Amino acid sequence: MSVARFHNSAMDAMELAQVNRVQGKMELYKKWLQSALRLEWKAVKAMEKAGIQEPTYSILCRSAISIAIESDKLRLAKQMIIHALLNISGVTKEFSPLWNKIREAEKVGCKCQECRRTYKVDLDIPDRIRKKITSDKADLLCGPCIMIKIENLNRHDHFRLIGGTKYEE
Ligand SMILES: [Zn+2]
Repeated sequence: MSVARFHNSAMDAMELAQVNRVQGKMELYKKWLQSALRLEWKAVKAMEKAGIQEPTYSILCRSAISIAIESDKLRLAKQMIIHALLNISGVTKEFSPLWNKIREAEKVGCKCQECRRTYKVDLDIPDRIRKKITSDKADLLCGPCIMIKIENLNRHDHFRLIGGTKYEE
């Protein structure tokens, strides 16, 4: 298959991934995300075989790397950046936002003790509620699990989300 066909198939897969994500079908979302990643990297490889052309090559690489980051495959994303930079010179700057994104994603992340998902946003909750929804076994909870547990307390309540420290700077 040609570079363009791999790339177009990758974009089709990406669109299906997003459609499923919006519908809350997370398994299908992940499945299509993986297909998109595989196909976009095949486009990169196909161009290496056919002869690297810029800026198309950088664009394909950045697209594949973005998909890898969205898939939480951070190590792979780093390897892809290094791979790309070894093939092209003078574009280091164009890859630095992606590199920073990976570093940022690596820094943060806790594993929710309820759903086992890695989460990045911590929610501060009042002690009176924390006591009711956490246990020794499940002390670290992600936002969605916190909300499900609060909903399950089954009484009317009111909260105000007052913004994250990250965005107040
Ligand atoms: Zn959770």
